[in-house]
Amino acid sequence: MAAPFTVVVRCADPRLETFLLAEHHRSTLGLAPVRVDLGEAHIANVGGLLPLAGAEVPRLVHDAGLLLRLFGGESGRIVLTAHSSCGGYLDAVEGSDDTVRARQEDDLRSTAHRLRGAIPHAVVDCYYLNLEPECIDAIEA
Ligand SMILES: [Zn+2]
Repeated sequence: MAAPFTVVVRCADPRLETFLLAEHHRSTLGLAPVRVDLGEAHIANVGGLLPLAGAEVPRLVHDAGLLLRLFGGESGRIVLTAHSSCGGYLDAVEGSDDTVRARQEDDLRSTAHRLRGAIPHAVVDCYYLNLEPECIDAIEA
């Protein structure tokens, strides 16, 4: 079965370009092995969720919901990601790497919860992308 149309919310960090093309990473994220036209849309910001969490979730609900309606029909998936050594979060959040990661995971969980409430037909999954060494942690949300 083909992977459902997926909206990927990610950081604009250029290191993620090759990371998100790797077939084994795509498999872990539940994406089609190779990115194809009309298979997925990426919403990329500095920090990924950073400018779209909290008070800005309605913006993400609108944009992700619109993309799903336009390209996914009634089925679709939203993949929320955060990543290690994220310049956006490191710039915005004071504290240790652990503090930054905790904030990233909080943003993933709270945003996933609100997206599920607002777009009940969409499947929402969260992942933390480790760049060095490369691996992916699924975040329960
Ligand atoms: Zn980043």
